[in-house]
Order: sequence, then C-alpha cells, then structure tokens
Amino acid sequence: MHCPDIREAVSARLDGEAPGIPAADLDGHLAACPGCAAWAEAAAALTRRARLAPAPAVPDLTARVLGALPRQLPGARAAARSRLVTAGLRLALLAVGVAQAGLAWPALTSGAGSMSAPVHLAHETGAWNAALAVAFLAVAAVPRWAAGSLPFLGAFSVLLAAHTVADLAAGHVHAERALVHLLLLVGVLLVSLVAWRRRRPRERTVRAVARRRVAA
Ligand SMILES: [Zn+2]
Repeated sequence: MHCPDIREAVSARLDGEAPGIPAADLDGHLAACPGCAAWAEAAAALTRRARLAPAPAVPDLTARVLGALPRQLPGARAAARSRLVTAGLRLALLAVGVAQAGLAWPALTSGAGSMSAPVHLAHETGAWNAALAVAFLAVAAVPRWAAGSLPFLGAFSVLLAAHTVADLAAGHVHAERALVHLLLLVGVLLVSLVAWRRRRPRERTVRAVARRRVAA
C-alpha cells in the first residue's frame, strides 16, 4: 500500500465517504508510518476547525422581506369588488322576482287584474308571470343558472316588448298595463348581466394576460 493511496483513503474517511480500502489495512499503515500518521492528524485537525468555524454573519432580512410584501395579493381588491357587484345584482334580482310574484298572484288566484280577459286567459297569464318570478328568484339563488335561462327569458321579453309597443301604438293596451312589463325587462337585463359576468374568459384573453405578465 502506497502512502498517497493511504492519505486519499484518510481524506475520504474524514469526509464521511468510503475509504476504498479495508479499515484494518488503513489503521495498520497509520500505526506503522509516522509520515501518514502525522498527515492524518493534521488533516483531521483542519477538518475539525473548518467544521467548527462560525458561519459568516449575514444581516437578518426577515423584517425587510416581510415589509416589502404587498399588503394584499394582486387582484384581491378587484375580486372583492367583483363579488360586491355580483351580490348587488343578485339582490336586485331577488327584489324583481318578489315584485313579479306579487304581480302574478291576483291573476293566478282569482283571475283578477286581467281587465276584460277571460278567466282562463287570466290564469294562464298569471302562471306565466309566476314562472318568470321563479326564474328570477332561481337565478338570484343560483347564479350559474343565468345563462341557461336566457333563451326563454330573452325570447319572451323581446316578443312581448315588440308586441307591447305595437299594441300601445294601436291603442290595444293601456300604458299602465304596458309599464308593468318594464319589470320583466329589468329582470331579464339583470339575468343577462349575471350571465355575462360569469362567462368564461376566452383563450385569447388568457394568452394576452399571460403575455402582459411575462413582459412586466
Ligand atoms: Zn505512509
């Protein structure tokens, strides 16, 4: 066994690695070779000193890092504002739904409020108005139903609005009765807004936002 091999093995053992030769052979050489024994002792002393040396002082940056963090995550304020608007829309829809139900009730229960319409027609109108009230209240309670209810609500309100304008012009309906339909239009507008705010962002928009973030 040559001294350089022994010293390499000693160095490996000091570093916690496999020395590559049997421990008995290594220790036997160290006992017999004063040169390697002195080298091993010096190496061990050096290793100990290096391990026990104090770490260089670094400034404590905790306070500065914490202080530099934004108080709110980016977008948190916009999200809070968006939640507030959605809550407002739902409350308005709730009010419209209750008012619409109030309109439907007399016609539905007694055929009243239908002017000269036959009783069954009054009941039918009452049922339609009650269904509209249920639709508004349902979207107020479960906003994700907004888009699904739009084909019916939109078609109904557009047809009714067009006929009401024509009937007003021809004198077939009193302005007072026509005004009641404004409630329907307000409700449909609110449902449309809820549906619009819940739409999924388009792929293009998502990519544009990502690009802006990268560029920033
Ligand atoms: Zn030796």
